[in-house]
Amino acid sequence: MDELQEQSAVILTIDDEQAIRESFHLYLEDYGYTVIEAENGQAGIALFESQKPDLVLVDLRMPEVDGLQVLAHVVSNSPDTPIIVVSGTGVIDDVIEALHLGAWDYMLKPLQDLSVLLHAVRKNLDRSRLTLENRAYQEHLELEVQKRTEELRLANDEMLATNNRLLLSEKKYRSIFESLTDVYFQVDLQGRLEEISPSISSNLEYQRENMLGTRLYDFFAEPERYESMLDRLKQNGSVTDFEVLLLDGSGLERPCAVTAAHEVHADGTGRIYGVFRDITERKQAEAKIEYQAYHDSLTNLPNRRLLLDRLELALHRSRRHGHEGALLLIDLDRFKTINDSLGHSVGDQLLCEIALRLISVLREEDTVARIGGDEFVVLLADVGHDTQATARRAEGVAEKIRHNLSLPIRIKDHELYITPSIGITLFPMQHEDAGAVLRHGDTAMYQAKAAGRNTVRFFLPGMQEEADQRLGMEKDLRLAISRNQLKLFFQAQIDAEGAVCGAEALLRWEHPEYGLITPDRFIPVAEETGLILPIGEWVLQTACELITKWSNSELSDALRHIAVNVSPWQFRQPNFPVQVERILARTKADPGRLGLELTEGVVIDNVADTVDKMDSFKMLGVKISIDDFGTGYSSLSYLKKLPLDILKIDRSFVEDVTEDESNAAIVETIISMASHLGLEVIAEGVETQEQLDFLHSSGCRRFQGYYFTRPLPVEQFEAFVSNSINEKSFVAITANPDVDELHR
Ligand code: C2E
Ligand code: CA
Ligand code: CA
Repeated sequence: MDELQEQSAVILTIDDEQAIRESFHLYLEDYGYTVIEAENGQAGIALFESQKPDLVLVDLRMPEVDGLQVLAHVVSNSPDTPIIVVSGTGVIDDVIEALHLGAWDYMLKPLQDLSVLLHAVRKNLDRSRLTLENRAYQEHLELEVQKRTEELRLANDEMLATNNRLLLSEKKYRSIFESLTDVYFQVDLQGRLEEISPSISSNLEYQRENMLGTRLYDFFAEPERYESMLDRLKQNGSVTDFEVLLLDGSGLERPCAVTAAHEVHADGTGRIYGVFRDITERKQAEAKIEYQAYHDSLTNLPNRRLLLDRLELALHRSRRHGHEGALLLIDLDRFKTINDSLGHSVGDQLLCEIALRLISVLREEDTVARIGGDEFVVLLADVGHDTQATARRAEGVAEKIRHNLSLPIRIKDHELYITPSIGITLFPMQHEDAGAVLRHGDTAMYQAKAAGRNTVRFFLPGMQEEADQRLGMEKDLRLAISRNQLKLFFQAQIDAEGAVCGAEALLRWEHPEYGLITPDRFIPVAEETGLILPIGEWVLQTACELITKWSNSELSDALRHIAVNVSPWQFRQPNFPVQVERILARTKADPGRLGLELTEGVVIDNVADTVDKMDSFKMLGVKISIDDFGTGYSSLSYLKKLPLDILKIDRSFVEDVTEDESNAAIVETIISMASHLGLEVIAEGVETQEQLDFLHSSGCRRFQGYYFTRPLPVEQFEAFVSNSINEKSFVAITANPDVDELHR
């Protein structure tokens, strides 16, 4: 203890002997202690409580409250305060008891040497200080331990929480892993599977457990694909959507897309991990799209695109090997009419049947394609080295097609007859590409159509010019009306007495470059482009103007009936009857003299609408005739339902009525049935006396044809009619009664 602390220590001395108190007091003060005195135990305890001395000296023997009592008080109230008992030598037992009770030290009276006192005071103060210091240190230690313990506890809690989180996230990833639809996999650098997700069972039908440890390589259908995947992984570190064929549990190949990464550590270990996905459905969809892009959805035949591809290939090969090939362009005659009249579902079925018939005619290496509504193409590749032989073979195929297609086709309740027009072109010619070959085929096909349909024509170089004209035609046709290039010709109709009884208006186009163009060539173009509507209106207007003119002329009696051809497109206009009525009113033409010629197809199209419109015309007094009768697919019975006036027997029947017995029978049936229904019959295309005789003897009473007159421009026609009225000299219909006999 240093001087200062020693001096500041307060010492309480309790003794009933004043001398002792004073001697202690004086002595200890000399050493810097503060000394307080109490003369008995009671006062000592009070002073102890009020002054809190650092050390107590107490005499054991005192009256009333003795030293042991003071000792007991101090020990129990302040055990850290050193207390030294002072005792007479005769009462050593007291000292022993005091030490038992908790006295720190003792001194025996009388004190010979007061330095004993000083020594005891110092020693016990030191001990007290050490005890206190020790206790403080102890307490500090305890605090430290407590703090550490708390820290540890917190750290532990934190660790537990982290652990929990890890467990949760592990659980989460495991459940993701287990519910993956794609397959997660992981292989070591030897390619052995270390991990694979359970989805492998739904993807490729393997058990996960059986796959672990096996080689990924063994599941590849194409080993070289595995190698190239590895190469890429090594080069780029990863692959994305790498398509491979994997073998499934039943050994079937399944297209899959692999996305994987290659991981190599510094110590040379590593792995490959990633996902793959079964892309069977995607592949199928792609294949379907690819298929659809190259095929016609109705017939499943190759479409124009695929045809051009194959044709290009065939051209290339032909040039290399000196082979020749042929292309046949097949267009169905009058298909549009069937489609427009019987409805698209019948039309579609018909096209499918045609497709089947075409396929049946060909070798496997030939291609049949559908490149448009009713346009089919047959590609005969590598036919031979010799042009003549190639041409013969192509023609043979074309004839076979023509024959096959001409057999009747039954669809629903309809028996349909279809004929094709076929254009053939041989290739290679010069430097033409696939597109040019197709155009040549097209040109030849139009030639076949122009030659009267149901015909085969070869492409000849000069034809192309004409084909180009056709393209130009559409452009020119738009201007034809405004430039006054359309003309109406008239072909007279003759009655049983040989007199003119009416006429048919037939359209012509006077083209400034190409001369007179017949309707067969431009009406289809007009229908395709919609120009048929203004053109049809012009025809009606012009015909009605002439009806008015002729009614007021000497031709009035002869021209009782003027027939105008009406395109299905015109007739289907909802306001067509109104349009006709307006034209009649505007031109002041007598409705009773106007006839409308409709084709069979238009009539069947929509019977209810047709009947409605026909009724409106009947009310107006306009006559309706069915044109080209007999060529169609319709039954005669439905005609009863229609308010018709006239049937026109198609010229194809009239043409060989004298040679073909079945045609003759058809004509007779038509005539007798018509008379049964109260319909008039006109035979068209009458070219010979024999035909006329037969028709007349069968009961037909009106005729039209080159035998009497060709269609003529208005002026010539008027001259022709007025001539016939005045001369009555050109026909003698029943000139030879024996002929009648012959045909009965
Ligand atoms: P269509 O209604 O069958 O007309 C009869 C066709 O037969 C006419 O041909 C006529 O010139 C021809 N012809 C007349 N008598 C004979 C004959 O004895 N022998 C032969 N071989 N042919 C004969 P054209 O004028 O070339 O008309 C062809 C078709 O064009 C017509 O066939 C008709 O469907 C259509 N057409 C004509 N004018 C019009 C019109 O103004 N509007 C519409 N929409 N079509 C028309
Ligand atoms: Ca006609
Ligand atoms: Ca006709």
